[in-house]
Amino acid sequence: ETLARLDRAHLIHPVSSWRDQEEHGPRLLSSGQGVWLTDMHGHTLLDGFAGLWCVNVGYGQDSVVKAATEQMTKLPYATGYFGFASEPAITLAARLAEVTPGDLNRVFFSQGGSDAVDSALRFIRFYQHARGMAGKRHVIGLARGYHGCTYAGAGLTALSVFHRDADVPLAWQHHIPSPDPYRHPAGEDGSAIIAASVASLRAKVAELGGPEHVAAFFCEPVQGSGGIVVPPRGWLTAMREACREMDILFVTDEVITGFGRTGPLFACEHEGVVPDMMTVAKGLTSGYAPMGAVFMSETIYSTIRDGSPPGVAIGHGQTYSAHPVSAAIALAVLDLYQNGVLENGVKAGAHLATRLAAMKDHPLVGDVRSAGMLAGIELVTDKKNKTKPAASLGISKKMAKAGYEQGVLFRAFGDDIIGLAPPLTCSVEETDLLCDRIEGVLNTLMN
Ligand code: PMP
Repeated sequence: ETLARLDRAHLIHPVSSWRDQEEHGPRLLSSGQGVWLTDMHGHTLLDGFAGLWCVNVGYGQDSVVKAATEQMTKLPYATGYFGFASEPAITLAARLAEVTPGDLNRVFFSQGGSDAVDSALRFIRFYQHARGMAGKRHVIGLARGYHGCTYAGAGLTALSVFHRDADVPLAWQHHIPSPDPYRHPAGEDGSAIIAASVASLRAKVAELGGPEHVAAFFCEPVQGSGGIVVPPRGWLTAMREACREMDILFVTDEVITGFGRTGPLFACEHEGVVPDMMTVAKGLTSGYAPMGAVFMSETIYSTIRDGSPPGVAIGHGQTYSAHPVSAAIALAVLDLYQNGVLENGVKAGAHLATRLAAMKDHPLVGDVRSAGMLAGIELVTDKKNKTKPAASLGISKKMAKAGYEQGVLFRAFGDDIIGLAPPLTCSVEETDLLCDRIEGVLNTLMN
């Protein structure tokens, strides 16, 4: 009660209603183990969303806690400024270089996903300046994309709530349509969707004055916050090739899809695509500490370096860039991925896909889609016309209540999409239980 009162009086919650919070108070979680969370009332919940699609290795991993404790004891902080470094940051950079696609061997560590995206945007600017092409400055993203909430990240995001009263997108930020197979104007045929995306990219580039004015294209290999949009196979390759042809940097934002969420360590591996830059966060430390990263190719790195006069510093970095405790945690988490967690995610993800396919017959389910342990269920009130549920039905509120009663956490996007992103450590039995409970939630909506 005291906590609830203090919360209402003082704490501003991220991405929560300004008003409802003050009326209802916090949903306080107190402990976690494996894929299970316990709230302040002792109620247990199966975490079908891995926190905020980040706790990929599950809660209560002793090796991670040990790595953090040891690093905190030995050296809790070391700046990366002025050439200083810490052992875990260097080791992590080297180990990640071994597992990232292609020649993405250079890494800058941020504190989370938003500032990884922001950092990428700044490095892109440095790169175009270093090449003597400062006019190549426009950046294109996708409708329904989410890239964080710094000013530049929120502008690259194409979800209206993040634009409200914020004067974004910035003048150099633009969007082309989402490759959503369920609601695409070109229909559900994969090749038609791919052709339409490539055509929109080319048209946007032409509208902006041609490739000499466009620096980069950003995309999530599977769109997350826009409602789990899984583009057709071949889409990523086609967009990558179109960008290469036009000399536009192809940047994948793998903040959600990275670190096994869709099966392989990085989602671009599904198609063997190597981006010019890649942003990650979330699964990097699996939520045990804040950290993100931007990877760039050797070419981008050396171009920026060679274009800078000797002695001039990189004008970018934060107090907590490459934080040693976060880096030690990321190393312990990487060990877990490489020692069974990724494998388990693939197995559980295949089971999840089978269970979801069976839900397609539910009267309210218009579409189910998934990539590994990342899934979406789209609700409609009329399957043939794909009619979205009317706001007056209050479905998202009903789902939140039913989810709590069923003991399952998931995320509702608006009133029509249920998002699932359980820890990759979910057993097949827990995956079944998750799906049973989600079906329970769907059934309450029929009443
Ligand atoms: N990019 C993507 C694709 C994301 O999903 C998110 C967070 N949901 C971000 C960037 C921003 O990351 P963070 O919340 O860690 O700042």
